[in-house]
Amino acid sequence: MMDADVAVIGVGAMGSMALWQLANRGVSVLGFEQFGIGNDRSAAGGESRLFRTAYMEGKQYVPLLQEARRLWRQLEQETGNTLLTLNGGLMIGDPNTDALKNVLQSIEAFQLEHEIIQGEEATKRYPQYRLFPEEVMILDKKAGFIRPELAVISATRQAEANGAVIHRYAKVEEIIPDNAGVTVVANGQSYRVGKVLVTTGAWTKKLMPKWNTKIEARRLVLTWFPAKNIDQFKPENFPIFARMRKDFRLTGAPTLDGTMVKASNTKNPANVPDPGQLDRDVSLDELKEVSEYVKELIPGLIPDPVRASVYMDGYTVDDHSVIGEVPGMNHTFLVSGFSGHGFKMSPVIGSIAADLVIDGKTEHGIEHLDLGRNLVY
Ligand SMILES: Cc1cc2nc3c(=O)[nH]c(=O)nc-3n(C[C@H](O)[C@H](O)[C@H](O)COP(=O)(O)OP(=O)(O)OC[C@H]3O[C@@H](n4cnc5c(N)ncnc54)[C@H](O)[C@@H]3O)c2cc1C
Repeated sequence: MMDADVAVIGVGAMGSMALWQLANRGVSVLGFEQFGIGNDRSAAGGESRLFRTAYMEGKQYVPLLQEARRLWRQLEQETGNTLLTLNGGLMIGDPNTDALKNVLQSIEAFQLEHEIIQGEEATKRYPQYRLFPEEVMILDKKAGFIRPELAVISATRQAEANGAVIHRYAKVEEIIPDNAGVTVVANGQSYRVGKVLVTTGAWTKKLMPKWNTKIEARRLVLTWFPAKNIDQFKPENFPIFARMRKDFRLTGAPTLDGTMVKASNTKNPANVPDPGQLDRDVSLDELKEVSEYVKELIPGLIPDPVRASVYMDGYTVDDHSVIGEVPGMNHTFLVSGFSGHGFKMSPVIGSIAADLVIDGKTEHGIEHLDLGRNLVY
């Protein structure tokens, strides 16, 4: 006898949204999460996640992001929780870099609301920053920030309200597919389901060793700084930002607690050989490095970090995720490898995952996320 139609393994960003979508569509579904819901042990913690639509990673994401924004609002309506705040977003850098070119191409292809701000005007409007002569600011008006812990909790609770059963502190140890379905083993107990959706992020290689060479776990450090004048960094005055140069990528969000501002260096995150052994200590060198960037680039902040925490995400070699049915594993789907930029799109990814699990196809354009592409590092 089946315990459910579908099991979702890993209830983080993608798992919670897939559970929400599947339960909303009347599918009987089990969720398994090795920690608590809304935990900060993987990719989904740290107070805020940036939402951008003029996309540095490529214009092919824009339709997904627009649909994600609609679904964020739907989840807010269903749960009564505020999850996405659109206070705008500044993409800052040399317009000749690939990242900024992609931003401009996204804007042009989809007529996105924006402003290009440079020179004196930039420093007048955003006195928090110091700008290099070759840099411009591109204001993406439909960007902002998401509350990640509340988002995961909201989607999960909404799924439960629609009949999903979530096993918390239940680590899946094995997935055993056969012709008729899949057996999932968690905490030593077996569950029988029709299909399995694996959304284990940075932990994917632990559960699916064949993906060891394709999805690396990588470590990212988030840091927060006090401000000389915190009012300048309130959401209404300080859009989210991403600032790119060769040696760093500084990203951040306005103050959400009224005392500190997030600004983190997310360039070249280090490989984590064993996700179970993530080093959650932040070294002095790491703090000094980001402190130097903040000192140079955002003089409105006091460059001594007051908070730092460590997370990890699953990365692919081309920084695009994988979505699809796993070859050689009957009835098993994998949605992973979001490479440090997946949170904003999690509701639409949950919807696509539900399409694939239920119908075997989706109407969304996800060719660039094809699981069969060459992904070996
Ligand atoms: C520091 C940092 C900053 C980021 N900033 C942004 C941003 O500003 N904007 C943005 O869009 N994206 C951002 N991202 C990326 C985004 O957060 C991730 O891409 C996204 O959360 C990945 O979702 P996921 O579901 O694949 O993984 P996760 O959200 O990590 O969820 C995976 C879950 O699976 C569980 N799990 C794993 N193995 C098992 C098992 N065997 N059994 C049961 N449960 C298991 C884990 O405990 C975890 O809860 C950032 C990521 C990091 C790390």
